[in-house]
Amino acid sequence: MCGIIGIVGRYPATPRLITALKKLEYRGYDSAGVATLSNGKLERRRAAGKIVNLERALVESQLDGSIGIGHTRWATHGAPNEVNAHPHAADGVCIVHNGIIENYSSIRSDLMDKGVTFETETDSEVIAKLVSDFLSEGMEPKSAVQAAIKTFRGAYGMALVFEEHDNLMIGARMGSPLVVGVGEGEMYLGSDALALSQLTKKVIYLEEGDLCVLTKTTCEIYDENGIEVERPVQEVETEEDEVGKGNYPHFMLKEIFEQPKTLNRTLEAYTHPATGELVLPKDAQGVFDLSKIGTVHMISCGTAHYATRVGEYWFEQLSGLTCKCDIASEFRYREPVLNPSDVAVYVSQSGETADTLAALRYAKSCGVKTIAIVNVPTSTIAREADIVLPTRAGPEIGVASTKAFTAQLQVLLTLAAIIGSENGR
Ligand code: GLU
Repeated sequence: MCGIIGIVGRYPATPRLITALKKLEYRGYDSAGVATLSNGKLERRRAAGKIVNLERALVESQLDGSIGIGHTRWATHGAPNEVNAHPHAADGVCIVHNGIIENYSSIRSDLMDKGVTFETETDSEVIAKLVSDFLSEGMEPKSAVQAAIKTFRGAYGMALVFEEHDNLMIGARMGSPLVVGVGEGEMYLGSDALALSQLTKKVIYLEEGDLCVLTKTTCEIYDENGIEVERPVQEVETEEDEVGKGNYPHFMLKEIFEQPKTLNRTLEAYTHPATGELVLPKDAQGVFDLSKIGTVHMISCGTAHYATRVGEYWFEQLSGLTCKCDIASEFRYREPVLNPSDVAVYVSQSGETADTLAALRYAKSCGVKTIAIVNVPTSTIAREADIVLPTRAGPEIGVASTKAFTAQLQVLLTLAAIIGSENGR
């Protein structure tokens, strides 16, 4: 799952799309591309490899226009080359997509039966071709996207721009995050708030199944039933010094040295200011009785899973509870037996890890209480869990986790100690 940026703006889009894509580089990617709308025509530039290759392509042949979309791709379907790089185009529309359209193959063959041709090996291209097909039947852009997403199974965050609509961008999300940015006479779309940090601090986090229709000055949001809904505009607090490299040669080194600061900041959130005792943050207090927990299930992926394996020792030793650790992708498909007194703890830096989110929903469907330990308090996992315990590590750009990992350990240790004391230990 990689990066998306979209701008419906008043000023040239391309340089700003590139700056935003660079903010998304930390997620890893294999190719990149942008598309803009200028004089009623959609045009795109794409390149395999690093964003500098895309910049070179743009120097050779520039892209004008103040509305555009950009993408960094992490290939799931099709080789990481220029042809498969996003944006994908079809008559009247260009799209960028994060995630996987699981049923792309049947949609593709249905469209091919109708004479539609495909240029790429990607799953994502069906989005462009299907929306275009609906447009050619006379549908308006919004209805065409709504009709298309009804057909898709899988995960998507997507942004679409349309030929002859120089003041329109549509976004949609399911299982992949997407954020609207609110600017001065401009609107933006990003796969995370960090992508938008140069553009605006005002963001709207879209919910699962949402579709948004943006113009320079308006943002309409429709939920998965097509009903128009209001979502709050939130102010993001990312400190600019945390997004830049400072004087360090690379992010990982900077983030290693940030650990005293981030651990201190995290501990502050769990320390009573007057007594110095360990306490849960205010919103997490009294949500359920910590002295009546059966088994603790800890579910996570990757680095967060390593944190829970350490946490397992602390839960058993300090809180005296049976503790089971699971990798989310195993847990979600295994249908584990959960009891009503159990608590499920989900650990994720981004709070968007797809398997962890699915495992959270599984536990909720079993009526089990859920706790999220996340670094992004506005994330989907945070929004859906009963209790949110923040790790206050700040944005982690380095791919190998350092400060986010130690902050996860710290919160697990604190939680184990608090539950232990609730249990009279
Ligand atoms: N599945 C899409 C592809 O392979 C999108 C991958 C991504 O999220 O970057 O092109």
